[in-house]
Amino acid sequence: MKNQENPSKKKPALKRVELEIEEEETEFGDIKCPKCGQKKVDSWTQQTRASDEPPTTFYKCRNCHYSWREYG
Ligand SMILES: [Zn+2]
Repeated sequence: MKNQENPSKKKPALKRVELEIEEEETEFGDIKCPKCGQKKVDSWTQQTRASDEPPTTFYKCRNCHYSWREYG
């Protein structure tokens, strides 16, 4: 059995390509805009006044700027 380190085993050079991202921390999920049908929808949650209530999820379409919300 060989008991030697493989000198050719080196770390692969990680190349990070920084894309120009205009939006911060934005993830487009599978949310579909009910108005235009595009999936370019921003979503964020906001806690309502009572902390024991589930947060409200807000949605806003980047395509047609239609916004709506969802409870719970
Ligand atoms: Zn839309």
